[in-house]
Amino acid sequence: MPIFEYKCRHCGKVFEYLIRQNEVPVCPECSSRDLTKLLSMFSSNVKTGSRGPSSSCTTCSGGACSTCRR
Ligand SMILES: [Zn+2]
Repeated sequence: MPIFEYKCRHCGKVFEYLIRQNEVPVCPECSSRDLTKLLSMFSSNVKTGSRGPSSSCTTCSGGACSTCRR
């Protein structure tokens, strides 16, 4: 089962979540479901910097991105 990293758009918490069938991840801090999905291969880049949600998307280098909704 894949483990994904998420960043909460609500409180900025970054956490890993083990996704099972159709399971919806929620923030362990504030129980928000407004999360940004991160790719673990880029996690080191994300963890070191604590930027705002809008500038922390590492799944795209610009343009349209379904993750950060730009
Ligand atoms: Zn949160």
